[in-house]
Amino acid sequence: MIKLVADLHTHTNVSHHAHSSLEEMVQGAKRAGLRAIAITNHGPSMVDGAHQWHFTNLNIVPRKIDGICVIRGIEMNILPPNGSVDNMEEKYLKNLDYVIASFHEPCFPPVNSDVHTRALESILRNPYVTTLGHLGNQNYIFDQERIVSQCNEFEKIIEINNNSLAIRKGSKENCKSIAKLCMKYHVPIVVTSDSHISFMVGKTDSALAMLEDIGFPEELILNADFDRLANYFKKIRNIDIHSFEENQV
Ligand SMILES: [Zn+2]
Ligand SMILES: [Zn+2]
Repeated sequence: MIKLVADLHTHTNVSHHAHSSLEEMVQGAKRAGLRAIAITNHGPSMVDGAHQWHFTNLNIVPRKIDGICVIRGIEMNILPPNGSVDNMEEKYLKNLDYVIASFHEPCFPPVNSDVHTRALESILRNPYVTTLGHLGNQNYIFDQERIVSQCNEFEKIIEINNNSLAIRKGSKENCKSIAKLCMKYHVPIVVTSDSHISFMVGKTDSALAMLEDIGFPEELILNADFDRLANYFKKIRNIDIHSFEENQV
């Protein structure tokens, strides 16, 4: 069984529909045997998203708490019609380590494959975005081969989201075909929980079972090895998560 070292998609109770504090999420990561957690609350365009000040103020969160590295992140909303993202000042974005961009129904009412594909092509060109989030959502069909085949050129990675597999109808088959394309084009992925409560941090069994089922290579899963993940953050943000020290701000 593949074992993960980090959960890179989690929400804290700065959004009202999530239930745990940052400290509780860190404890959840510890209980799950992880070494790192990314806090990725929704961008301001989402109903119940965080105010943009939340993201700049992630600077006061220690880099390492109780042995767990804390990655400063956001889940941005892809916006219609052409794939812009939440309107946030650059100074708020610059300090973020990890930026997921995802389709959400309240922000981008689903249209058709052409429109979704065009929006994702804009996201590929957005220099702040690191990760395409929960692409398996059946409501947002898109030209999978066209997008996945361009990910390495734009240094984007793809998320396989366990929560989607569990709650979004039809997601499993989409996730499977997206993962197979990642194998074909050697695109790195991350496997995440998208947890909204501390007890779900690191819970990714359905996603990992699907990946094992299709023989997905472990070396393409960035968060299955701490050195691999550290190399990734060094490359995209020039931060060294190996050097994070306890309670370092
Ligand atoms: Zn989402
Ligand atoms: Zn989420």
